[in-house]
Amino acid sequence: MKFDWLIIGAGYSACVLAERIATQLAQRVLIVERRDHIGGNAYDYYNEHGILVHKYGPHIFHTKSKKVWDYLSQFTEWRHYYHHVLGVLEGKKVPIPFNLNSLYALFPPKYAEKLENLLLENFGFGVKVPILKLRESASGDLTFLADYIYENVFLRYTMKQWGVKPEELDRGVTGRVPVYISRDNRYFQDPYQAMPKLGYTEMFRRMLAHPNIKVLLNTDYREIINDVQFNRIICTGPIDTFFDYMYGELPYRSIHFEFQTLDQEWYQEVGTVNYPNDYDITRITEQKYLSGQTSPKTTLVMEYPQAYIPGKNDPYYPILNEENRDRLDLYLKEVEKLNGTVIFAGRLADYKYYDMDQAVLRALGLFEKEIANSRV
Ligand code: FAD
Ligand code: UDP
Repeated sequence: MKFDWLIIGAGYSACVLAERIATQLAQRVLIVERRDHIGGNAYDYYNEHGILVHKYGPHIFHTKSKKVWDYLSQFTEWRHYYHHVLGVLEGKKVPIPFNLNSLYALFPPKYAEKLENLLLENFGFGVKVPILKLRESASGDLTFLADYIYENVFLRYTMKQWGVKPEELDRGVTGRVPVYISRDNRYFQDPYQAMPKLGYTEMFRRMLAHPNIKVLLNTDYREIINDVQFNRIICTGPIDTFFDYMYGELPYRSIHFEFQTLDQEWYQEVGTVNYPNDYDITRITEQKYLSGQTSPKTTLVMEYPQAYIPGKNDPYYPILNEENRDRLDLYLKEVEKLNGTVIFAGRLADYKYYDMDQAVLRALGLFEKEIANSRV
């Protein structure tokens, strides 16, 4: 069989590109996926208790992009959902991202009011301030607050998750969860926040349900690359693997997910509870908040961060720092030499900390700019 495209991987990036190529260009695509399912890290399934769980950790959909929302809405209906996170600080559960409600939950009212006024004077209401910026710019009592949040929310959580301190990572990492000078307890403020009504996997199944798309599971692309005919490749797997680690490994963090089903209706107050300071886990998510199901049982997922060891566990989080960016640049120079015959897209292939919507936006952009009108 001859294909126009060989696509490595079957996650968001691969599914969007396959769908666009098959339906808009009427070209034939072979998707080759190492795992035994489509959906990449967003894969979900019903466990033995009938509860929809996310195999590779909780995935909450949120985006500012109407383009992404409209595109995915062709393949799924949505259940509107605002994610809430509480963090356990000194035995109290307070809203995360840290906000004015967290302030009043932790400190005596008079002192909380003083700190609130300082935040409002220095930054203004509704402003989001990354913790590293707050620490740099704070003075007087705000220094106390900045240090308190750094120590109690970020330092040990980040040490568990990444194995290094917040300041040793790209600032954007802790900047994802900025101090929010607001009373809004939601984890995200994006205008589109929802969960696919029948799950992510069903959404991907619909994207790939086209006669021009064939999917080969349980197969590393290196096993079959010499046995199939195709014109071009899209790689959504790790870029360093594609080039046989010629410039060394691009490091990742991994996570061990532990699922537990309890014989009770609910376990915790909100979708996710973070444990920045206690235990070896970073957080516990209760899946039913995400799926909206009713059941007399409930399934939890606990996250134990780990080092990534190729062949042993999965690469989840690119570790963004200067050294790794320099190494990525070397690989990107190799990409240029391929003159567009191989296209790289996605969290592993771009080595970027993409959320799901960013992976979709990147894939749609690539399709429009580099694929739809290409003469390669
Ligand atoms: P992936 O989903 O990683 O897909 C790549 C695929 O390539 C994988 O299926 C892999 O098996 C396959 N592959 C790799 N090498 C080979 C090979 N040699 N041969 C064949 N196949 C191969 N985003 C959000 O928006 N909200 C969230 O709440 C959220 N939570 C997350 C929680 C965790 C723990 C993680 C890890 C990520 C989370 N994300 C979240 C990010 C989200 O998972 C990614 O943005 C998205 O899955 C990226 O899709 P992708 O297709 O680029 O990569
Ligand atoms: N973070 C933290 N404490 C928290 C929440 C987040 O230190 O209670 C830091 C940590 O470094 C984490 C990063 O902020 O890796 C980004 O958090 P996010 O919840 O966005 O991570 P993800 O959902 O992608 O795992």
